[in-house]
Amino acid sequence: MPRTEIGTSDRLLAELRGWVEAETPTTDPAAVNRLLDRCQAELSAVGGALERLPGRDGYGDTLVCRTPGEGPPVVVAGHLDTVWDHGTLASSMPWRVEGAKAHGPGIYDMKAGSFFAFHSVREILRQKTPTRRPVTLLLTPDEEVGSPTSRAPIEQAARGARAVLIPEPAGAGGACVTARKGVGRFDIRIKGVSAHAGGNWSEGRSAVVALAQVILKIHAMTDLAAGITTNVAPIRGGTRPNVIPPEASCEVDLRVPTIALGERLEAAILGLAGEHDGIRITVTGGMNRPPFAETPEIRALYDQARALAAKHGYDLPSQHRGGGSDGNFTAALGVPTLDGLGCTGAGAHAPYEHILWQDLAPRCATLCALLEEVG
Ligand SMILES: [Zn+2]
Repeated sequence: MPRTEIGTSDRLLAELRGWVEAETPTTDPAAVNRLLDRCQAELSAVGGALERLPGRDGYGDTLVCRTPGEGPPVVVAGHLDTVWDHGTLASSMPWRVEGAKAHGPGIYDMKAGSFFAFHSVREILRQKTPTRRPVTLLLTPDEEVGSPTSRAPIEQAARGARAVLIPEPAGAGGACVTARKGVGRFDIRIKGVSAHAGGNWSEGRSAVVALAQVILKIHAMTDLAAGITTNVAPIRGGTRPNVIPPEASCEVDLRVPTIALGERLEAAILGLAGEHDGIRITVTGGMNRPPFAETPEIRALYDQARALAAKHGYDLPSQHRGGGSDGNFTAALGVPTLDGLGCTGAGAHAPYEHILWQDLAPRCATLCALLEEVG
C-alpha cells in the first residue's frame, strides 16, 4: 500500500513553530479560532469535508474534517488550546531550539500532537493516499478546562467509530497511553458562626476548623495500592485573626482507576455534606472524566502501533497515566482508544515545557500509518 510522505523533522518543526507562536489560551476564543481558521483553510484547499461547530460559553469553535470512505471511521482528536496566557511567548517561554529540545508554550501539550493529526490528515488528502477506513479529524478548543463544549462532538464522532487516536504528549521513554485514571472534581463550602475570638469565643463555630477536619478525611481516602488519590487545593477561609471564621471552602481533585471506585469515592465525598452543631457543609461536583481502562481491543491497537513504530526505527512502550484527557470520554463509550501518540518531551503545564524535535517525523509517521492501516 502506498504510504503518505510526512516530511523531515526540520520541515515539521518549521511549520509547528507557526502553531506555537499563535498563542491559544483556552480563555481566548478569538485566538483559538484564528489558529482554527488556518487549519480550516488548509484542509479545505485539499478537499476535506469540513464542519465547523460554533463555540459557546466563552470557548472557541470545534473543527471536524472527514476523509472519503465507507464504514466506521478512525477518529483522531487534538486540542488547540493551551494553559498558557498571552505574553508567555514574549516573556518566560520564548520559542527556542537548543540541541534536541524545542521550547515554547503548549508545544508538548499538545500543539505538536495536534499538528501531527492535522498534518497527517492534510497529507492523506493532498497525496490521495488510500486508507482502510475513513478518517475523522477533530480540532477542539477547550480540553484544558475539561472539554465542556467539545466533549459532545468528540463523543458523537467516537460512537460507532472503529478506533480513536489521541496524540496527547508521549510519556517517559516515548510511552503511549493505554489507560488513564478517571478524574473527579468537587467544591466544598462550610458555614460556621462568627464571633469575637476574645470576648465571645464560646459562641463561635469555626468554619476553618471544620474544613481542616474535612481535609483530613479526604486525604485519608487516598489509597495508593488501589490507585486512588485525592488532593485538596486551593483552600480559603476566615477574615482576620480575631474573628472566629464563619466561612471556609476548598476544591478537591479525585483520581480513580475504575468506574466502580469512581462511584464509591464520589458518594463518600458527597456524603461529607451535612449540618451539625452550627456547622453546615455543602458539597457539589462529581466525576468529570470517567476512567479509561485498558481492554484487549486497546491492547491490540497498541500492538499495531508498536509494530508501526518499529518500522519507523523506535520502540513504543505503553503506560497507564494518572492525568485525564479526551481519551477518557471515548474509551468509556467502549471505543478502542490509544492515547499519548504525540511527541516526546517533558514539562506539560510547566515552564520547562519542550519537545524532542528530532522525533517529530517518526512519531507523526506512526500516527499517520495508523490512520491509514487500522482495519
Ligand atoms: Zn493536552
